[in-house]
This record gives sequence, C-alpha cells and structure tokens, in this order.
Amino acid sequence: MYDSDEQRWRAVRERDEAADGRFYYVVKTTGIFSRPSCAARLARRENVEFHASLEELRTRGYRPCRRCRPGELERNRQHADRVTRTCLLMNAATEPPNLDDLARSAGYSRFHYHRVFKSLTGLTPHTYWTAVRARRVREMLIRARTVADAIYQAGFGTNGQFYAVSSAILGMTPQAFRAGGAGVEIRSAMGVSDAGPVLVAVAEKGVCAVLDGPESETRARLAELFPDARHRAGDRWLEERLARELARPATPHPGAPLLPAEVRGICRHERIRQSLRTRPHPLPGPADVPALRAG
Ligand SMILES: [Zn+2]
Repeated sequence: MYDSDEQRWRAVRERDEAADGRFYYVVKTTGIFSRPSCAARLARRENVEFHASLEELRTRGYRPCRRCRPGELERNRQHADRVTRTCLLMNAATEPPNLDDLARSAGYSRFHYHRVFKSLTGLTPHTYWTAVRARRVREMLIRARTVADAIYQAGFGTNGQFYAVSSAILGMTPQAFRAGGAGVEIRSAMGVSDAGPVLVAVAEKGVCAVLDGPESETRARLAELFPDARHRAGDRWLEERLARELARPATPHPGAPLLPAEVRGICRHERIRQSLRTRPHPLPGPADVPALRAG
C-alpha cells in the first residue's frame, strides 16, 4: 500500500490518515518529521524523505512536528492495548487480581501501570475490578440458586465482603433484587452519554441499574429486571444529576477512545454509579426529593 516513495508521496499529498503510523516523512530543510496526514503546508517533493521508524528519525536528530505530534498516536495505542490486556484479565478473573501481576502483564512498573490505567479509564485498577465483580454479581443474583452461590461465583471471598457493598451495587437488598424489586420504588431518568442514550435507575439504597440504549428499549429491560417494583420514570432530580455527570469529560486522555467498547462501557457505568453515590448528597428517599423548579 505504501511500499514505494511514489505511493508515500501521494499519501502525504492527500493527507491520508490511513497511512499514519505506517511511515513518517521528514522535511530535510527544516529537520522536522511528520505523520502523513499532517495538516501543515505541503513541502517540496525534493526536500522530503520517508522513514519507517521513529527511532531512526530521533537518532538522526530530527525533531517531531508540533502540529501532528508523530509518535503520540502510537504511544497512546500502546497504552490502550496494554491497559486493555489487563482489563480482559480482570473481566475473566474469579479472584481479586494482584496489582503487581497486572502491571507485569501490561509490561509496566506497578506505579506507572496504576497511573496509565487511571488516566485512560478514569478508574483505578482496583475500582475497575470491583465494578466487574459487581456487574457479575448482579447478573448472577438473578440466575443463581441462592444468594450465597451468586456471591462466591462472582468473586467475593466472603459474605461479609459482599454485604458491605451490596446496597451500593444493588440499590436494594439482595432479597428484593432477586424478587424482581418486590416492594421497592424505582425512580429512573434518561441521559445522553458520549456512547448514546443511557437510563439510570435508583431504588431506596442507591443505583440499581445503568442501561445503554434508546428509551423504549432500556425501559423494557428495566421492567424485565424489576417486574414487581413500583416504577416512576422521568425523575427530574435524577435527570439533572445525571446530566451534570455526563457533561463532565470522562477522561482527557487521547488514548481513551482506543479502548474496546466493552471496557469503556464498564468504566462509564461505574463513573455514573460513583457520582450518584457520593456527590454532593446521598440519594434522597422518595419522600424528600427536592422540587427542582416551580412549574
Ligand atoms: Zn506535522
């Protein structure tokens, strides 16, 4: 595709983004190298040389273009790949993973791994793991024969570990959760995240569901999960809180969009859950929902 200088020059002339990362070009008169899609003014062909390796360009003393920042995309992709690798390990793990092991499989030091993970996902590796485990226990509670079975299968070491967080991850008691929300009032609201519409539902003890998809679909899924609850849709207090949370940039890291959709979804849902859990007030009960505005 970009094997000959002729093809490479055409890619540069056309600012072909598909060529980014495949090669770089250096303008010999300035000593600056760019990626093929660089928006800078086109140099004269006779001053342009092509190189495949960033290392080589750097050892020769050429400087990266400040406009297209060659190398950054590759670095971000590498960070995203390595973080993804450890996310998938956690998605499959049945026991709390060890931070040192995760860092090793990412190929980073423990400290660097923690930092890269946090800046890409907005969560610490530990929080990611607890989010995965919580998601799993929510699925298993519905299917498992007993609550205890679900707790162990999801990766909780003890009952105590589960009950310490059960309100926060279920929004109601495990018994009510299994019983289709019987006797529980569930308030819900829609918002729009960078991945599309999202429904958030809260019960008396906290968030009980975060579901992606259009309103009709997510409402049907919520009713399926909690057929015996009293549902109150379009909660304005919740709607405002959710909109405020979704308006905040999730993570400014340019590598974040390179994470797989499943991983991004887990992180997005966890950030929504956290924000409704902790800021700025605990969730009010149905009786003390503040009136947002008159009329
Ligand atoms: Zn450039």
